[in-house]
Amino acid sequence: MESNADLHIHSPYSMAVSPRMTPLAILETCAIKGITTIATGDALHPEWQKRWADFLENEQGITVVPSAEIEGAARVHHLILSEDFAVCENIASRLSPFSKNIGTGGRPQIRLSGVEIARAVHEEGGFIGPAHAFTPWTGIYAHYNSMPACYGSERPDFLELGLSADSSYGAGIHELCDVPFLSNSDAHSPSPLKIGREFNRIRIRKAGARETIESIRRGDILMNAGFFPEEGKYNRTACTRCFQQYSAAVAESNGWRCPQDGGRIKKGVRDRALELSDTAPSRRPPYLHIIPLGEIIRTCLGMGSPETRKCQQLYCALIDQLGNEISILIDVPVSDIAGIDGRVAAAIAAFRSGEITLVPGGGGKYGSFSF
Ligand SMILES: [Zn+2]
Ligand SMILES: [Zn+2]
Repeated sequence: MESNADLHIHSPYSMAVSPRMTPLAILETCAIKGITTIATGDALHPEWQKRWADFLENEQGITVVPSAEIEGAARVHHLILSEDFAVCENIASRLSPFSKNIGTGGRPQIRLSGVEIARAVHEEGGFIGPAHAFTPWTGIYAHYNSMPACYGSERPDFLELGLSADSSYGAGIHELCDVPFLSNSDAHSPSPLKIGREFNRIRIRKAGARETIESIRRGDILMNAGFFPEEGKYNRTACTRCFQQYSAAVAESNGWRCPQDGGRIKKGVRDRALELSDTAPSRRPPYLHIIPLGEIIRTCLGMGSPETRKCQQLYCALIDQLGNEISILIDVPVSDIAGIDGRVAAAIAAFRSGEITLVPGGGGKYGSFSF
């Protein structure tokens, strides 16, 4: 069996997350989107666990994987996956003496090093790896030059690429050659623009959280899918105030201060990945670049927002007649899409064949695209 898995989202107990993020809303979006395995997010939080209790078995038939993100020493973010909530509870009690907000915050801060956190998670039966590994503020490679520098003798079970990177960014880093890459949405709202904007197609022997984790452990990832890395807001090295982009060399010679306005220059994910690459690229599952259907519709209709009525109507018509969003983006024949809207069909044909113009993001400003 194959499953489209999005393994990193957040709950309203985390900062800047929509109050509309409820288990039911998440599952309904998954069904529209074509996501068949979804992470709970924030599974160390007791209230959020309770709210999921009635939805672990659900009428949408979606596999639910308890997941959590924590912030450890040096503000590095770690993603945790587990087969059930009991494991999460044990991890939470192990970590709680080292945290002020583990019972209250969705993404708690833990005053422990990467190796201490990873050891606790592994001993309790959890699965752990760096979240959005290359991002400049809270990615592992923002603070460390190697995995062992953070995790010591504990081996990370996977690495999450983050929105500003695809597999090619990590493929040339020798220490990652046998670490599976995950591509997840990190969604903060249940909108189909967010949930499943990145996902992993995995091969599973049967449905279930434990089987999902086992599949990743075996490296049974058939495909990663997500943003063109240029669309991410930290893809290029740029000023965080005026977003002017610089080469790493020019930024370095200016002491990482913007010559135009004195703002701080943040090293882009692309430059950081290049700097760490030390070997010929390893073979990786294919990485499919996708754009949320809502964004494609917005561009085709020339609207300012994908939430306008016109965009929503067309989105619903496409889903009603053609099936879920992922299949429309990837599989449905362009001629079928053209039967509903010729402009959307042309845009999907263009991005499937890579005919898309990207303006890279950087310094905290998202990139953009046109067909
Ligand atoms: Zn994070
Ligand atoms: Zn500037």
